[in-house]
Amino acid sequence: MPTSALGPRVLLRRLREVMAGPEATQDRLDRIAKLIASNMVAEVCSVYVLRDGGILELYATEGLRREAVHLTKLKTGEGLVGTIAKEAVLLNLSEAQRHPAFKYLPETGEEIYNSFLGVPILRAGQTIGVLVVQNQASRHYSEEEEEVLQTTAMVLAEVIASGELAEVTRDVAVDIGHIKSHQLTGEVLADGIALGHVVLHEPRIVVGNLIAESIPDEQLRLEEAIDRLREQVDSLIARTEFGRGGEHDEVLETIRMFAHDRGWMRRMREVVETGLTAEAAVERVQSDNRARMQRQADPYLRERMHDIDDLANRLLRLLTDQTETAAQGDLPRDSIIVARNMGPAELLDYDRSKLRAVLLEEAAGTSHVAIVARALGVPALGQIEGLVDLVDTGDPIIVDATNAEVHIRPGPHIQEAYAEKVKLYAHRQAKYDKLRDLPAVTADGLKISLNINAGLLVDLPHLADSGADGIGLYRTELQFMVRQTFPRQGEQTSHYRAILEAAGDKPVVFRSLDIGSDKMLPYFHSQREENPAMGWRALRIALDRPALFRLQMRALLDAAAGKELRLMFPMVAEVDEFLRARQFVEKERAFLAARGHELPESIKLGIMVEVPSIIWRLDQLLPMLDFISIGSNDLMQFLFASDRGHPRLAGRYDTLSPAILSVIRQIVDRAEAHDVPLNLCGEMASQPLEAMALIGLGVKSISMAPAAIGPVKSMVLKLDKSQISQFIEPLLSRPDQSIRGDLEQFARANSIPV
Ligand code: PEP
Ligand code: MG
Repeated sequence: MPTSALGPRVLLRRLREVMAGPEATQDRLDRIAKLIASNMVAEVCSVYVLRDGGILELYATEGLRREAVHLTKLKTGEGLVGTIAKEAVLLNLSEAQRHPAFKYLPETGEEIYNSFLGVPILRAGQTIGVLVVQNQASRHYSEEEEEVLQTTAMVLAEVIASGELAEVTRDVAVDIGHIKSHQLTGEVLADGIALGHVVLHEPRIVVGNLIAESIPDEQLRLEEAIDRLREQVDSLIARTEFGRGGEHDEVLETIRMFAHDRGWMRRMREVVETGLTAEAAVERVQSDNRARMQRQADPYLRERMHDIDDLANRLLRLLTDQTETAAQGDLPRDSIIVARNMGPAELLDYDRSKLRAVLLEEAAGTSHVAIVARALGVPALGQIEGLVDLVDTGDPIIVDATNAEVHIRPGPHIQEAYAEKVKLYAHRQAKYDKLRDLPAVTADGLKISLNINAGLLVDLPHLADSGADGIGLYRTELQFMVRQTFPRQGEQTSHYRAILEAAGDKPVVFRSLDIGSDKMLPYFHSQREENPAMGWRALRIALDRPALFRLQMRALLDAAAGKELRLMFPMVAEVDEFLRARQFVEKERAFLAARGHELPESIKLGIMVEVPSIIWRLDQLLPMLDFISIGSNDLMQFLFASDRGHPRLAGRYDTLSPAILSVIRQIVDRAEAHDVPLNLCGEMASQPLEAMALIGLGVKSISMAPAAIGPVKSMVLKLDKSQISQFIEPLLSRPDQSIRGDLEQFARANSIPV
């Protein structure tokens, strides 16, 4: 049985000589094909390069007819070569003609060759060509030969990508596996449309130095890098912010296990032995792992393979000194950041002026990074399965966060359609800008107070930009969530002071810490809960952890010295909880007064109405309150007993149901009876149609995402309050699941933009 005549080391040495030579790329490819054929005792060695339109063109051959070079072309997926490119897999066949994908190519004269070994030529995880050897005798190539061919394919990838062929491969545009156009869907984290180019948050590492000058040196480099990788993983696990116990531990321990995985280490050491550099060896083994990952159907095992892939990337960064995320590099002006996931602080690292959108494979709407994306006003989608493996830096991409869609490398039709859509979007925004300084008054003269929801300092410019009346909900927990440790009292005070200063004369309603449930702090651990939304959260934690609560109250009172402090408590379920919370405020006020601190000019206290039980206590509670705010997100979740974050329940119940609207109506009645101002700050206020219904129910103040102020205001200006009230009243007693259709009709009939 013929086998590698000179062994991989000699082959690699010869390849290095060819690489260093002065020839043009075509000559180099010819010499390489010859070298491989003789080294592997193969009668044929052919190199196919992927060109425009996903066409694989025969670029060099030793053994097939010369005339076929640049003539023989296969589509991706066509024939054995096309299959290798499409699936990024190796094919080792003793009877090539018997393979179902075999395609007869008369111009090559290859019909006399029975055995066939072909491997993809990969660069940074993408197929850019195929390398094949063939023999007349029918035989199965050995594992060692497979290894040699794969290693050689890596070197070829360098030749193809660095010579004059680079232009060709870079422009390979459509129609191959991960190079063709794709449309994916995800979950909307922040609304908007963006056209731009992909920037991988963790750039793929391109290994340039492939062939070892000294194998012992490379062995040493690999061992050192493995040691450093293990240290990194250990210190990651030791970092206190992850706390102890729970899911984190399991995940991190699995990663530690992989960092010590003997099979993985052995494979990389073996490849270094063949004469590749340490980084090239890591990449070689990583390619094998990726190919297996693509074939793996079991999602659990695929996930574990991802873990190894991530570790291999770490190792590559260590070996090539590439440690940065894209945020530190040069960004294109229309960057669309793509990542598996990232922390909120990492997103804040990006230059906002160049950031057009953010796409994440894993994050959900309630994640911290989603909250920051909304605060930055950057369109964002999460839960986009398989995204990172499908894109590469520089790919054109369209993000439609109004329809939860991503178009990767879109065709010309989609690009044109979106260019139009963006214009319309911008036109609409410009119309809203014109309304900015107009008060939101209905056609029959009722002033509606439109406020924004905020939670970070970066939100503050939106207050002026949107022309909102104030901040109706300041979610104080966000400052806690974007950090790795509890903010100290001084830090809290200066944060709240900065908010009040930036808001100027406009009122700000602070909400005390609403942590727990889906808003976890990495450094604050509670026990695992069966029903976290109904668990130990918000005011419940505050009352049980007085030190934490007291600190926040003191910081707020101090920050509002000489001004008005408006403060509300989340998740109040009974009157007593409010009374206890109020006592904290009283005590801290006395504490500061005793120490000579200047106090707020006035303190207005309120609650969020979001736990249904409190609705039946409003007559007792309202006389003690300065205002209330309906948290329709949680109120709806509890009234329908329907998890607000559950993907299967999303859309099952309608906010515009007679049930929800009747409850809101009842709350409005009680607030009016006690002459206590009422606001609504859940997501429903952001939708013009929903906001129209709320005004019909007597709600005069709402609070929403800053981007919604314009659309809601243009609705208010056209609305007749008494007309909508008359229209909606009888609908509340209907047995229907929703009155959305009736409201839409009303809006249409009265030319109200919703
Ligand atoms: C709500 O529940 O409606 C609300 C505004 O609070 P959050 O979304 O922060 O729970
Ligand atoms: Mg809530």
